[in-house]
Amino acid sequence: MLKEDKEAQEPDLLRSQCRHYHRIKITIVFFLLAGICLFLFGRLTYFMVFQAQHYAEKAQELHERERSIKAARGRILDRNGLTLADNKTVCTVSVIYNQIQDREEVIRVLCKELDLSEEYVRKRVEKYSSMERIKSNVDKETGDRIREYDLAGVKVDEDYKRFYPYNELASKVLGFTGSDNQGILGLEVKYEEYLQGKKGQILTVTDAKGIEVEREGERRIEPIAGKDLVTSLDLNIQSYATQLATQAMLTKEARSVSIIVMNAKNGELYAMANVPEFDLNEPYEVTDAALTDFLKKKTPEAENFDLAAAREALSQEETQEILNGIWRNACINDTYEPGSTFKIITAAAGLEAGVVTPQSTFSCPGYIMVDDRRIRCHKTTGHGGQDFVHAIMNSCNPSFVTLGLRLGVERYYGYFEQFGLKQKTGVDLPGEAGTIMHKMEDMGNVELATVSFGQSFQITALQLLTTAASIVNGGNRVTPHFGIKAVDPETGEETVFDYPVESGIVSAETSETMRYLLEMVVSEGGGKNGAVEGYRIGGKTATSQTLPRGTGQYISSFLAFAPADDPEIISIAIINRPKGVYYGGQIAAPILRQLYENILPYLGIEMYNQEETTQSED
Ligand SMILES: [Zn+2]
Repeated sequence: MLKEDKEAQEPDLLRSQCRHYHRIKITIVFFLLAGICLFLFGRLTYFMVFQAQHYAEKAQELHERERSIKAARGRILDRNGLTLADNKTVCTVSVIYNQIQDREEVIRVLCKELDLSEEYVRKRVEKYSSMERIKSNVDKETGDRIREYDLAGVKVDEDYKRFYPYNELASKVLGFTGSDNQGILGLEVKYEEYLQGKKGQILTVTDAKGIEVEREGERRIEPIAGKDLVTSLDLNIQSYATQLATQAMLTKEARSVSIIVMNAKNGELYAMANVPEFDLNEPYEVTDAALTDFLKKKTPEAENFDLAAAREALSQEETQEILNGIWRNACINDTYEPGSTFKIITAAAGLEAGVVTPQSTFSCPGYIMVDDRRIRCHKTTGHGGQDFVHAIMNSCNPSFVTLGLRLGVERYYGYFEQFGLKQKTGVDLPGEAGTIMHKMEDMGNVELATVSFGQSFQITALQLLTTAASIVNGGNRVTPHFGIKAVDPETGEETVFDYPVESGIVSAETSETMRYLLEMVVSEGGGKNGAVEGYRIGGKTATSQTLPRGTGQYISSFLAFAPADDPEIISIAIINRPKGVYYGGQIAAPILRQLYENILPYLGIEMYNQEETTQSED
């Protein structure tokens, strides 16, 4: 007991001693700090009151004025070296108060040449500051003209502005830059580290009155130009794809049309058109079409809109919302339900697993029962008995549901992952959307059945195209991309980009069978409108509903590759919400037919010699 008490008392004693000591310490520190503060305050007052004049003079005696020199941003080039994004020399006009001799003349000239109000210019010219900016982004001719007046106190600095010679072309791929020439969207932002370069500086030493000291002159730190980005984009193919997409959008009164053209063997993207595109030289312009869409969404019942008034009334958030919509790259930023083009994946999975061969037979009475659900075929009277070749040619839903059920949830899910559908494609553009798929544990027979013909999950158009490419190219999953290399414009030094390729996605045999099946779809099946005279084309059509379902709106698409026996090119055309006829085989297939008629000869892909093959078949 006693021992315990002693132990309990001792710490109390220690604690009180400690407290006393602390109090002393705090008091000392307080007085010390107070003393220092008082001293500093005294010194400061002394400098501010008594020495102000002396120091101000000293500071102004010699003073360096710093101006930065923008680095030329690297250009973006197409695969043939044509310039898609360039720099235009622009000027920034400024005035230096202390150097101006004839104030009225300066005001008069700047108002006239820069088309500015006298009030605006006078306020800046008469403002006492070391350097006052009057206007930036002045075109070079105007800048040169102002220089010729040789007015004291007026500075014309050259600067760069991003310039897109083809305005709207590939707008959602190239992207644009902000006020400080930094990438904001698309390849411009993805390749910022190569394109941006390094700013330089001009140091001007001036005397107390702001007048340049002659003998000191200017010290310049030269800027380092950014690297040029060579892309896989082909200006001709992109232009033609854009033209076809625009034509389809207008004739079908569709909301939007996208076309992707890719090299099936290495993933180089030749074209990615998303109409409506936007003008890269005016990226912040809220277009009439976008504004109308926005207003329609807000008040669906209204018919006519006063666009001018609506434009005035837009809040900053609303404007940004509309711009984000205008800038969206539907091929990679948006997901959709692919529909029947996804039968390519189900067929490949079935062939890989050995649960189907081209000779396997299926029967279609116009529907199929899965658990308690009745899933219809698009041909309500049924396709009857048919082999697998005809099942895919006819795009028969019950046949594909049967195939999916034969695989079962686990195996189907395994192929979905093996084919790379759960990952992103890794395309070199920002904001790629991921796949929206059931969790395996949530998948029952009904979900499996709908996935088998491309419904109840969502992927991007580029994901579908990339997966289809790996299925028909011999089993190599390529990384779709635009960037080929960055080139130093002065030294010519190159940084070549490489991209992962995963082989063995499907076996060579499965790939070969898939090429055959999909060629049959185009030569004799639902993809007939995609056939191109003299070329072997493989492909698959789709007509899917927009989500949420039940609005009576559709997405029509066609995916096709050529030549069918050894694919070099693979493409997809997607029409979003067409009016009137909406079947992919009728409206999307002809788009790629026209595209291929034009670009296959352009790419030097040889025509198929029919005679030779007929002989060998005999
Ligand atoms: Zn059927």
